[in-house]
Amino acid sequence: MMATNGKEACGVPDEASASVNGGAKDLAKSQNGAATRNGEAVRPERFAFSTEPTMEDIRRMQAEFTDERDWNKFHQPRNLLLAMVGEVGEVAELFQWRGEVAEGLPDWTESEREQLAHELSDVLIYLVELAEKCRVDLPRAVIRKMALNRLKYPASKVHGSAKKYTEYED
Ligand SMILES: [Mg+2]
Repeated sequence: MMATNGKEACGVPDEASASVNGGAKDLAKSQNGAATRNGEAVRPERFAFSTEPTMEDIRRMQAEFTDERDWNKFHQPRNLLLAMVGEVGEVAELFQWRGEVAEGLPDWTESEREQLAHELSDVLIYLVELAEKCRVDLPRAVIRKMALNRLKYPASKVHGSAKKYTEYED
């Protein structure tokens, strides 16, 4: 199931995710303001996705959608890239002229949230189909790229800093 209700979409934690850190009542603050419990740093609660559909499910669903319409002939890599960029523009339009938007989109209406869910889905669908047509096994590629990112940005070196990797000294 995809997360479609407003509470999930805006990042309000459910009971399961709230219990990951054992509740907030015994939390303390460290000197730098981060939450701690018994002197240990506690990660802030994070919004989590549903486990399905997988990327392969999305690839197959879109393949069925295009096959049923005989649209595969139009879906070459360059066209898919341009379509994806167009959808990124539609996401940007929803954020345009609002100023900074807080995490969880507290000031957005249900209808605006649903519109955002639609446009982000369009971006993802085209991204997955582009990867398919370029023969990039996207879930595996993400694993390889995250490993490279960890090497490039060792947590011990970059913690709390937004510098680019070329700005760090060994
Ligand atoms: Mg769209």
